[in-house]
Amino acid sequence: MVYRCGKCGKVVENLQERGTLRCPFCGHKMIFKDRPKVVKKVKAR
Ligand SMILES: [Zn+2]
Repeated sequence: MVYRCGKCGKVVENLQERGTLRCPFCGHKMIFKDRPKVVKKVKAR
């Protein structure tokens, strides 16, 4: 699962292994779930 910090906007991976939803960069507690970087190419017909 990939999370994104609501303050600094950095992507935090493997956050569940640490047991706390907290940004390791700025210490902010608001972490949002973020989808993995998957770019879907949509071809316009
Ligand atoms: Zn942060």
